[in-house]
Amino acid sequence: YNLFKHFLLRFSIVAGFIAVRSVFLRQSSNERYIKEMSNSFIKLAYNDMMTGTLNKKAMETYCAFVAEKMMPKKVSVIIYDIDYFKSYNDHYSHIKGDEALKLVAKSVVGVLERFDGYLFGGEEFVVILPNVAEDAARRIACELLDAVRKAGIVRGDLPGRRVVTASFGVACGTGEELRDYSLIAEADKQLYICKNGEKDCVAVNGAVFQ
Ligand code: GH3
Ligand code: MG
Ligand code: MG
Repeated sequence: YNLFKHFLLRFSIVAGFIAVRSVFLRQSSNERYIKEMSNSFIKLAYNDMMTGTLNKKAMETYCAFVAEKMMPKKVSVIIYDIDYFKSYNDHYSHIKGDEALKLVAKSVVGVLERFDGYLFGGEEFVVILPNVAEDAARRIACELLDAVRKAGIVRGDLPGRRVVTASFGVACGTGEELRDYSLIAEADKQLYICKNGEKDCVAVNGAVFQ
């Protein structure tokens, strides 16, 4: 009988240990699951699925972060848009158009890796460069212009245009002007100077660079 009691005691200690361990394991795997889920929700909420760039919601959060936490003396914005993209889509299909969009985003990100800038996608693409003055932003935009040309995405839908190009608008101002989006509006205004001209260029303060 004593032997049995002893056995029961040992058995319940082992069983208890296993039960507690499995609860802990389940809890930690649940926690891991919840963490993974929330990470993928964050990705879904903040990423433009097609180009893999950050989306408009992420951009708004980042603009507020720059204005409130980084408080840079200067911040620059570059907006770009592919030239004659509707014609490219019409000629090569929307699927090929998507591929071109991704390739352009990839070449832009390739250049931005050397700078402290983020690329946000959506209707147009926006690059935000905290602590970058106007001159430097113009040089970066010219590098981006060149990188898109060099991506060499061949097109034959328009006379005189052998590869896909993009136009770039640049603006520089304060963190507050970034937060109230007036800086983005100014970069957009510059972009349209390119669009109303030959395109495939960079515009800053009304001056055009090729
Ligand atoms: P512009 O040179 O003035 O920029 O003219 P555009 O034809 O490029 O016109 P716009 O910039 O207004 O671009 C509109 C076109 O972009 C319409 C649509 O065919 C294409 N587009 C917009 N989003 C997407 C997308 O996610 N995928 C593809 N394939 N095409 C898109
Ligand atoms: Mg567009
Ligand atoms: Mg366009």
